[in-house]
Amino acid sequence: MKTLDEYAALASASHGHLCAGQILGIRMAMLGLRALGIDDPVKARKRLLTYVEIDRCATDAVSLVTGCRLGKRSLKFVDYGKVAATFVDLETGRAVRVAAREEARDKAKAMFPALADPTQAQLQAYRVMENDDLFCLQTVRVNLKPQDLPGRPHSRVRCVQCGEEVNDGRERRQGERLLCRSCAGEAYYEVVTGGK
Ligand SMILES: [Zn+2]
Ligand SMILES: [Zn+2]
Repeated sequence: MKTLDEYAALASASHGHLCAGQILGIRMAMLGLRALGIDDPVKARKRLLTYVEIDRCATDAVSLVTGCRLGKRSLKFVDYGKVAATFVDLETGRAVRVAAREEARDKAKAMFPALADPTQAQLQAYRVMENDDLFCLQTVRVNLKPQDLPGRPHSRVRCVQCGEEVNDGRERRQGERLLCRSCAGEAYYEVVTGGK
């Protein structure tokens, strides 16, 4: 595992800036991996799966440290709006969830009163604060299904309404009809033009 400073340099290069959220994400991932006994995330890449609960700065850093990526199915996004992540060791089945403590923000801002910029004060504080002050750590169990794991698709069906293919059991059954989630009424978009 690299140091916080090494990860911070990489994070700022790939995310475009260094911010408190990145520091939080880096430390969150480092803590989660250590709790799982994983010292080298690069070596452990194949056995590691991470759930992130927010689509903000911290998530990019979690992905950077763990090497887990959406396109490899090793990064799962669950939209809870929380600065939290769960790290799963696929080899042992062990999992830990690390969540940022709400009190950490105020504590951080109070630590460097001399810094005029409160976001800078927060960033500097997040570098040095104790893990216990920053995070709450839980041992959890994650019910992973085979169709959620990396590797080739387990199934592929065609939606009877739009004709598009659906991988890995994400279809919906309405009576005898297999539908994609969109056609089953869960669409996040409305078609304006194009398609079929
Ligand atoms: Zn950021
Ligand atoms: Zn469809």
